[in-house]
Amino acid sequence: MKRFLVAGFAVGALAVLQAQSSGGRVDWNKLRPEILQHYRSLVQLDTTSGHETRAVDYLKKVLEGEGIPTQTFALNPARANLVARLKGNGSKRPLLILAHTDVVGVQKEKWPVDPFGAVMKDGYIWGRGSKDDKPVLTANLVAMLMLKRLGIQLDRDVIFLAESGEEADLEGVGINYMVREHFAEIDAEFAMTEGGGARIDAGRVTRVSIGTAEKLPARVRLVARGTAGHGSVPRLDNALMHLGVAVDKVGRWETPMRLNDTTRAYFEKMAAISPAERASIYKALLDPKTGADAQKFLREHSPGEYSMLRTSVVPTILKAGVGANVIPSEAEATLDIRALPDENIDAFYAEMAKVIADPAVGIERLPQTRPPSPASKLGTEMYRAMERVAGTIYPNATVIPSMSTGASDQAQLRAKGIQSYGIGPASTESDEINYPAHGDVERLAESSLYPFVQYVWNVVVEVAGHK
Ligand SMILES: [Zn+2]
Repeated sequence: MKRFLVAGFAVGALAVLQAQSSGGRVDWNKLRPEILQHYRSLVQLDTTSGHETRAVDYLKKVLEGEGIPTQTFALNPARANLVARLKGNGSKRPLLILAHTDVVGVQKEKWPVDPFGAVMKDGYIWGRGSKDDKPVLTANLVAMLMLKRLGIQLDRDVIFLAESGEEADLEGVGINYMVREHFAEIDAEFAMTEGGGARIDAGRVTRVSIGTAEKLPARVRLVARGTAGHGSVPRLDNALMHLGVAVDKVGRWETPMRLNDTTRAYFEKMAAISPAERASIYKALLDPKTGADAQKFLREHSPGEYSMLRTSVVPTILKAGVGANVIPSEAEATLDIRALPDENIDAFYAEMAKVIADPAVGIERLPQTRPPSPASKLGTEMYRAMERVAGTIYPNATVIPSMSTGASDQAQLRAKGIQSYGIGPASTESDEINYPAHGDVERLAESSLYPFVQYVWNVVVEVAGHK
């Protein structure tokens, strides 16, 4: 055991040297205009769902222009996926770097500038996709170009995937298609893509989060059944009344709190770096004696963190009734349930039925949009490399693993056994609130773009470079 530890350290130290020497060969100042040009060109392409091939055409031209062969895979010709592979010596399994090309729609009247102009103003680049997901797409592209130009020797293949349909994939054109029909083209030991980020406080990056897990959408419909009748005649088995009570019960239900490796590390690290008052809440959370009060605080003041603690149940749609004078025989509610990665979902639904405790209300499962996906491990070569590189690109920042309460294409990769990690460029808290991904207006600080590209580059070289 000890021998392995020593060997592990030696490899780690070498990796750092290797990354430094290769990283040192990139003149980042000289590369800036090129990074900016690719990024702006990609933001300027309107790749709202259904038009992803526009980005594929651009990427194909750039990659092939530098002698990197590409392959496209398209279930729908307007929504193609592109794969490029740089070969390693095969001593380790591949590294997959991926980003989605599609962006969510825009309401033009909400934008102070052209949403597809990549306008540069006030230190920001403005545009749909400027955060989600074109920084990752750009960083991955630049990594491929530089690996090729510098002739970096690789222990692993580096696979570049630009995928369609992450935001809206009712046709299954993106990751589902690639995993189902072309998995051999993207199969890897590790993957890196959107799903993490970094926080800027007072002009400095203070924390870098690496996405290692996500919750699983496990939605259901509650259906209450009663006797139909005339609105002038009250009935105790009125479906609306039964549904209303059930919705209230499940909406207030305190599902059991359960931490996993990621969320435990998250709250421990947050306790270490937060101001005293908030830190005491996180510490209390980790202590079974004081946990309940801390959970109550988070439920009210930090719903996102509250959701990280448990499988959550949120009523989102109600449907019932055809007329003011008609008692309908059925009433239904949709519950957006987001399960912890290790949840036993059958047992969870059974528990929910006990909470509802009403034979008139049935639970019907809705089709699952994502496969169950285990959390990626914190101790892998990839995670450790990301931690180390984050420390060099963003000195003194705390690196924190994070579990997304939302769902992403990492689910399909993790479900296939790939250890997948989430990254993202740095933002201030106010930018995260006022200019978020999918928000009315999206923008990225130009000063966040370049360190992010360097971060991706250094991780790729350290994990895939020959040692
Ligand atoms: Zn995205």
